[in-house]
Amino acid sequence: MGALYDKLNEDFRLEEALNACMSCGVCTAICPAAEFYHYDPRAICTIVQSQDDAEIEKLLKSDTIWYCGQCMSCKTRCPRGNTPGIVISVLRTYAQKMGYFVENEKGRQQYAIEQTVGQNILKRGYCVHPDIVTVDKHPEQGPVWEWYMEHIAEVSPRFGAKYHQRGAGAIRDIAEDDLKEINAIFEVTGGKEMYRQIEEQSETFAKEHNLPMDEYVQHIFTEDSGCHSL
Ligand code: SF4
Ligand code: SF4
Repeated sequence: MGALYDKLNEDFRLEEALNACMSCGVCTAICPAAEFYHYDPRAICTIVQSQDDAEIEKLLKSDTIWYCGQCMSCKTRCPRGNTPGIVISVLRTYAQKMGYFVENEKGRQQYAIEQTVGQNILKRGYCVHPDIVTVDKHPEQGPVWEWYMEHIAEVSPRFGAKYHQRGAGAIRDIAEDDLKEINAIFEVTGGKEMYRQIEEQSETFAKEHNLPMDEYVQHIFTEDSGCHSL
């Protein structure tokens, strides 16, 4: 008992985020995610604090740790000064490192986030850019978006944007040197290593389930067991 807990504790954030939880449930009462999901940050803190490896491993392999929206409302209300949202961040990091995230539906979606938001940051300097919100892949954007994308060059200057231009303004092209700097920051801070771990574990999982990567991506975008929300 405790070896897995010790591993989690190597992450300095855990010591700062969890200090003698008294299981009062205030964090769950304030948590917006608990309004929608079968989700209880108090229970997560109780499991981590128990140092019970079997229970912690179950948690790491479950959808539960992916329901948190990282809003940190829990931090503002905890009478013990705990931050359940950071405890969950620590669990997520470990689940990604160990490959546990592929064992559940919400965790597998990490690959979609890494391939979209994650790679956009490295390649474009933006989490989201209109060029990747294509009409064919995002029908939920509706006809206004289709019109907008057809007229983006003429419309964007009206709100001060610099679409595929340089200089100050939203959605401007980011200079090569700045992109190199962003990439270097992600390399030295471990961000790229995390991306690699997500990719490798996802590819292994897809292979084991005889899914070519394009089918796997489709699978994680559309899979919905319907068991997540209240
Ligand atoms: S509010 Fe703080 S003390 Fe209360 S259950 Fe949540 S983490 Fe524990
Ligand atoms: S950070 Fe997560 S656990 Fe905390 S209140 Fe927000 S959604 Fe809930």
